[in-house]
Amino acid sequence: MAVSFKEVTKRFPDGTTALDRLDLEFDLGEFIVLLGPSGSGKTTACRLLAGLEAPSGGRIEIGGKDITDLPPRFRDIGMVFQNYALYSHKSVFENIAYPLRIRKVAAPEIERLVKEVADLLRIGDYLHRKPAQLSGGQAQRVAVARALVWEPAICLMDEPLSNLDALLRLHMRTELNRLHRKLDKTFVFVTHDQEEAMTLATRIAVLRDGKLVQFDEPRTIYRRPANRFVAEFMGRPAMNTIDGMVEGGVFRAGDIACAVDCADGPLMLGIRPEQIELADHATTSSVTLTVDVKEAIEPDTLLIFQNRGNSVTLRTQSNCDAIEPGQPVGLRFPKEALHYFDARSGERLR
Ligand code: ATP
Repeated sequence: MAVSFKEVTKRFPDGTTALDRLDLEFDLGEFIVLLGPSGSGKTTACRLLAGLEAPSGGRIEIGGKDITDLPPRFRDIGMVFQNYALYSHKSVFENIAYPLRIRKVAAPEIERLVKEVADLLRIGDYLHRKPAQLSGGQAQRVAVARALVWEPAICLMDEPLSNLDALLRLHMRTELNRLHRKLDKTFVFVTHDQEEAMTLATRIAVLRDGKLVQFDEPRTIYRRPANRFVAEFMGRPAMNTIDGMVEGGVFRAGDIACAVDCADGPLMLGIRPEQIELADHATTSSVTLTVDVKEAIEPDTLLIFQNRGNSVTLRTQSNCDAIEPGQPVGLRFPKEALHYFDARSGERLR
């Protein structure tokens, strides 16, 4: 049973195209992360799947059944909103019980199911409280419990962690991983945090301007980004992308030169900051650049170089105590770490 978006377009009355012929298909049981910059259409995709908005074109199917016109309450989908949308006058117990009450589940069964999901999310001690008496992390768990208690096949989460402080966010991320492994449900999770996407997803759908730019496992998105946009979006600091020219197997841009496996002509070369190596001695295979800025992000160090319009960032765990701004440093760009992009379109060449 798969979930499919088939050429789904969403145009709002003001003329904004939020989704542009989106084709996306995933299996039940996956943890799908929708990732992209602000305005790329992530929330819209969620709202269409939940049935809170209707598409302007295309269709959505679950298990081969067209659900495009099915009202939300008939879809097997629970949803967690960014602001949690808890009922402030109801207790935690009643908030979680709500989806069961509207489905006319018998009272003893409600008691059992609420307790079960509350234990799973470690909020069993707070069932009598009101939402205002909860911490951000606890409120977030209540919202997740309410989305899961009636056991929908799919749980949609639109930036559920964005209101939490950094530490709690990390903790909840681990909890969601645990929950997904335990429950065997489909999670569709919206974020613009690439680290969250990397750690949670079975597959990441990268959106840009309402279009799907890449849909792959996290490691493939990192190791083989489909184009310059994905390359620069995934990884911190971003991948270096350098515009230059290839002649006889050598790429040149300013003082940067390195051996490549590419045909002659313009090329955009990509290399991740953590894959550039410090060269102890100037050798034929290294490049010498002058350090512009040095930043310690313990235990790593960032060295940033400026060279004739190109900025190059290196991230290393080597000891850089002796390196200061203004100093020349030898760098090596290992061939196996290079990414080749079309100089004009930015699409990956191979
Ligand atoms: P964010 O990360 O900021 O939440 P997003 O990727 O979730 O962004 P959407 O909220 O899906 O993006 O919005 C996609 C585009 O559609 C944006 O340009 C947005 O301004 C526009 N949009 C969203 N809702 C409406 C609406 N009701 N009317 C008009 N335009 C809308």
